[in-house]
Amino acid sequence: MGFGALRAIPMDKEMTVSIKKVGVIGSGQMGNGIAHVAALAGFDVVLNDVSDDRLKNAMATINGNLSRQVAKKIITEDARKQALDRIASASSLDGLADCDLVIETAVEREEVKRKIFHDVCAVLKPEAIVATNTSSISITRLAASTDRPEKFIGIHFMNPVPQMELVELIRGIATDDDTFDTAKEFVAKLGKQVAVSEDFPAFIVNRILLPMINEAIYTLYEGVGNVEAIDAAMKLGAHHPMGPLELADFIGLDTCLSIMQVLHEGLADSKYRPCPLLVKYVEAGWLGRKTQRGFYDYRGDKPVPTR
Ligand code: NAD
Repeated sequence: MGFGALRAIPMDKEMTVSIKKVGVIGSGQMGNGIAHVAALAGFDVVLNDVSDDRLKNAMATINGNLSRQVAKKIITEDARKQALDRIASASSLDGLADCDLVIETAVEREEVKRKIFHDVCAVLKPEAIVATNTSSISITRLAASTDRPEKFIGIHFMNPVPQMELVELIRGIATDDDTFDTAKEFVAKLGKQVAVSEDFPAFIVNRILLPMINEAIYTLYEGVGNVEAIDAAMKLGAHHPMGPLELADFIGLDTCLSIMQVLHEGLADSKYRPCPLLVKYVEAGWLGRKTQRGFYDYRGDKPVPTR
């Protein structure tokens, strides 16, 4: 038997999936954004979280964000209603059984993600694609915790998802071409641009962005400037739309710390050492906007610097 005969086995064809239904695991700021854009693009969406309150909040946030888009005439009222109708919520992973693609976007902790992949793969059909929205963790390592490393891929959205144009696609060592092409097509249907990144810690955007944010926190820690001065400096002096500390609060300080730890451990270079002040804020539970306090205090009418 020649190689031609081996290639004739129609395995790949049978295993090809066309994406109609998308599962989103984790309904935080990224999960609700991904559900929002996928539903607007016409996909059926099932949104999952361990917390029912989080799920309720996420549906309210999506509705609020869609309404804002209607008010700004970005979408029609009809599109808002149809998008909302396409999103179902599920408090158990069983609700994701008939999804063609699931995107995990729970907290940036490897053990949490590994457990999710182990559990969700048990209910998914074999041809379903499994993706992660991780900001930094190795796609190859996460893929190894699934039963389908060849159908596993990094689809990394930017925050806020409805506004940001870019999505990074990251193949693990085993990701097959079909999975990559299907993911690329999915991203195009969402109206977003792809940047392909190799599977190295934090990929492209965060490899560049997070050390800049960490350096801004060192600048604060060493007393070179206060919160207001540092953010004003980068907004007015480098034309960044947000200051780095404001941006850190927006991303979430726990996520920022996790990404710096992945860079530090993964690249074994002391230049990625997370600033002790960032560690202290996370230990205090001051995680930025999502907990109402970070480098700014958001509990009043307008944000007040905490340093
Ligand atoms: P978040 O804290 O807003 O939301 C995380 C959600 O995951 C919470 O609702 C939590 O209840 C849920 N969750 C935790 N464990 C779960 C489980 N076992 N099953 C289902 N849900 C679970 O965090 P986020 O900012 O939305 O980040 C989520 C992921 O997206 C992280 O991997 C992060 O690195 C990545 N990401 C974040 C940003 C950003 O700017 N925040 C940008 C790109 C990617």
